[in-house]
Amino acid sequence: MLGRIMDKPLLISSLLQHADFTSGDREIVTRTVEGPIHRYTYRDAHKRARQLAKALQALDVKLGDRIATMAWNTHRHFEIYYAVSGIGAVTHTLNPRLHSSQLTYIMNHAEDSFVFVDLNLVSLIENVADELRGLKGVIVMTDREHMPETGLSNVYCYEELIEGHSDDLTWPEFDEKTASSLCYTSGTTGNPKGALFSHRSTMIHAYASALPDVLHMGESEVILPVVPMFHVNAWGIPYGATMVGAKLVFPGPKLDGASIHELLVNEGVTLAAGVPTIWLMLLAHWRETSSNAPSLKRTVIGGSACPESMIREFQDDYGVEVRHAWGMTETSPLGAISIPKPSMTDETKRLRLQAKQGRPVFGVEMRITDDAGKPLPHDGKAFGDLQVRGPWVIDNYFKMEESEAHDAEGWFATGDVATIDPEGYMEITDRSKDVIKSGGEWISSIEIENLAMGHPDVAQAAVIGIPHPKWDERPLLVIVPAEGKTPSHAEMTAFLSDKLAKWCLPDDTVYIDALPLGATGKILKTELRAQFGDHQLPEA
Ligand code: AMP
Repeated sequence: MLGRIMDKPLLISSLLQHADFTSGDREIVTRTVEGPIHRYTYRDAHKRARQLAKALQALDVKLGDRIATMAWNTHRHFEIYYAVSGIGAVTHTLNPRLHSSQLTYIMNHAEDSFVFVDLNLVSLIENVADELRGLKGVIVMTDREHMPETGLSNVYCYEELIEGHSDDLTWPEFDEKTASSLCYTSGTTGNPKGALFSHRSTMIHAYASALPDVLHMGESEVILPVVPMFHVNAWGIPYGATMVGAKLVFPGPKLDGASIHELLVNEGVTLAAGVPTIWLMLLAHWRETSSNAPSLKRTVIGGSACPESMIREFQDDYGVEVRHAWGMTETSPLGAISIPKPSMTDETKRLRLQAKQGRPVFGVEMRITDDAGKPLPHDGKAFGDLQVRGPWVIDNYFKMEESEAHDAEGWFATGDVATIDPEGYMEITDRSKDVIKSGGEWISSIEIENLAMGHPDVAQAAVIGIPHPKWDERPLLVIVPAEGKTPSHAEMTAFLSDKLAKWCLPDDTVYIDALPLGATGKILKTELRAQFGDHQLPEA
């Protein structure tokens, strides 16, 4: 017997419509690409999103068409999210840090018909335009006054496009399983792969993300997503924040410590989200200028492991609670978040737990398995392949017939290696390909990196496996030293030796000016291996 409840589809347009109705005067603030701070309200955003939706319809954009964006976090990007998905087309966010060959591949694979591009990123589209099949037009996200000279054909000005249309539009209704946005993963092996989200998955993810023990979003919060809107939809914040009518602050292209600090203070930001690299820059700025942001209550840190030293500094020195989160493009991205339980009162243990990736967010099932796919115990010791399932986890990649990452029961293999403790906290010990195997035992490079980052003379650290005749592989510590410092290998060994088993200690330490980073800010271990793979380890 079925329940007698209306079969109303969960559609993304309803978020902005609701925010207009209930929190219409709540602000959305942007540091624009042109420079000045722009402010308006959810009501204004809804009006302009409907105008843009009409403009897209006039350009013959239809249900299912892929519309790309090459853009920073701004109010215009926010409007595009809602206008494109609102009429049943698919927002395809492009990462400006991608190599042009990858960009060409992705845009052709997605069959993008239009691309919205920010003023200072136009050259990236110019570089690949000749190779793009099926591109019908480029919309530059600015006003007439700032329109650049460009050799691109079929170029439109965003503000002119909007002005030409009224907001007389009722959002169409369609199946909630309709695709809404598309995001390609950084692609550690082979070509990048597309995660294609639906209205339904986005909406359920938005409900979950807003919960107090997840991102803690509500109308009284002022939220700064530093995480880019081209990286898994800024972790879904443009949807969740709209659902609750929170004030939104978009940082535009300026993500340095001073610029982020200015927004935090001037806008009274209470909640910010981003990858550890961003917070390293902010913390350095705070230390140099003896400043802080008194309004900031929480920061969500994910995308890479958040070192314990960073959690401690935020919490102890600045009174900002750190919420360490784990997720992937393939999981929309929220998978787990680390918040100590109310019963956990020991400060040292709480900190240790926060450095773990946390408990699954309701909606996500999680398990670890051995090489044969057999589930492993939740004892905090056994580590194996992390697998997930849930209503916002992909069931395959865009345009792929079969997925090697899914098993017969629908579990998705994340490529991460993790433990799960008896309290339900998951901890990533490595990416499968980054685990170092020494004498038949696994060594976690991430664990050593996190510990090494706690040394005052270390700015950044990475660990790679070096081939070893006896042990198969041994860890090499690669350090970006703090300015004017060069911690010796002996010093690092002494620092790490009471925190690691002796056989896990790196065999040597080398120094580098900057770690090679991929398009999404992750350390490119492949490049480090290429650079240091032949390094001669000292004899034991
Ligand atoms: P992406 O799809 O680019 O977001 O990358 C997802 C991958 O980033 C995950 O599979 C993890 O390897 C890594 N990752 C994300 N969050 C964390 C975290 N909190 N700690 C460690 N690794 C993380």
